[in-house]
Amino acid sequence: MSDKPHQNLAIIGHVDHGKSTLVGRLLFETGSVPEHVIEQHREEAEEKGKGGFEFAYVMDNLAEERERGVTIDIAHQEFDTDQYYFTIVDCPGHRDFVKNMITGASQADNAVLVVAADDGVAPQTREHVFLARTLGINELIVGINKMDLVDYSEDSYDEVVSEVEDLLKQVRFGTEDASFIPISAFEGDNIADRSDNTSWYDGEILLEALNNLPESEPPTDAPLRLPIQDVYTISGIGTVPVGRIETGEMTPGDNVSFQPSDVGGEVKTVEMHHEEVDYAGPGDNVGFNVRGVGKDDIRRGDVCGPADDPPTVAETFQAQVVVMQHPSVITAGYTPVFHAHTAQVACTVESLDQKLDPSSGEVAEENPDFIKSGDAAIVTVRPQKPLSIEPSSEIPELGSFAIRDMGQTIAAGKVLSVNER
Ligand code: GDP
Repeated sequence: MSDKPHQNLAIIGHVDHGKSTLVGRLLFETGSVPEHVIEQHREEAEEKGKGGFEFAYVMDNLAEERERGVTIDIAHQEFDTDQYYFTIVDCPGHRDFVKNMITGASQADNAVLVVAADDGVAPQTREHVFLARTLGINELIVGINKMDLVDYSEDSYDEVVSEVEDLLKQVRFGTEDASFIPISAFEGDNIADRSDNTSWYDGEILLEALNNLPESEPPTDAPLRLPIQDVYTISGIGTVPVGRIETGEMTPGDNVSFQPSDVGGEVKTVEMHHEEVDYAGPGDNVGFNVRGVGKDDIRRGDVCGPADDPPTVAETFQAQVVVMQHPSVITAGYTPVFHAHTAQVACTVESLDQKLDPSSGEVAEENPDFIKSGDAAIVTVRPQKPLSIEPSSEIPELGSFAIRDMGQTIAAGKVLSVNER
């Protein structure tokens, strides 16, 4: 670990545009691939008369290990710049990428959007930009990748930049909050060093842009919200719920409440990395023990908060949703599974209140009969079982969800207001 401020970074973009390669390149250039792995590949490369090609070898190895299902998962890889310590919060190409982006244990503060120069804006480019916007990602760094495939042409670069700018305007992403960089993840242009191949470009290179991101405020001011991932029984201690603190703080002696199970008590011990601690804050994965709370009293999907400011449990809630992919149309009465933090609860879309114009955000239609792929709307939702969820204006970390049906993510949304039980 490091003392530098921490940033969660998502790498988004269309399949095959180079996300994994870029992650590999970032790890390689920042010295975050273990030295012995590089050394091994350097030797292999030299044996095969390909000195200087360690990067290609490292990437091949990552790809091979992925295929064998071994490990070196690109997600949760870490690297640092002078200013920050970065965690890549998602796994590009992962089947549940979109779902994870929303309900993932750690939401991204910022994102790098990868767009291949030889392909331009593609369907998942749109989908991911839509999501980034809905989920309140603050800053977007746009890497126009594979510049080597378009001979580092400034005209090709400008063309793709303007396509992306149009897309950002459509979803009302301030283009002034986006920076564009011509890169080649494979060749290493403008990642750690300024490239001679793009002498026409004088903006920031990628690691500079990452280093110059604004610092994100850790959400310690908000009340404690700790979604429970699992509940264990450990001999000598008793019942130990575990989870990641999304907002607020926990110290032994705190009086806490679990919702919607509606039980609570005094925190006896808090553990992190198998050691007892006397304080835990946002981003910390903790196991803890609460006097009088047994294994059957609480479950995954509960949220732990202060007894005097307990997690909100919704009778109904109003939300803004974006429909990403649905084979037909969504009408009132539709009851898919909502994934919010660690909870999965069937919820009924009780009414479609307003359809929004996705480019302006203005109301396009009151009480529409249906919504379909590409639509944005405000809807009222009734959980079929108790669900703890918060207005995203108050606690954004607990205010977004993904809607899943038929094995895929069909919509994403954020909570506007909650009608409490
Ligand atoms: P992902 O699906 O977005 O993660 O894409 P990958 O990182 O798996 O890359 C897809 C393909 O594009 C692979 O064959 C990479 O070697 C190739 N690729 C990635 N970046 C570059 C680049 O900058 N230049 C060239 N020529 N190929 C690249």
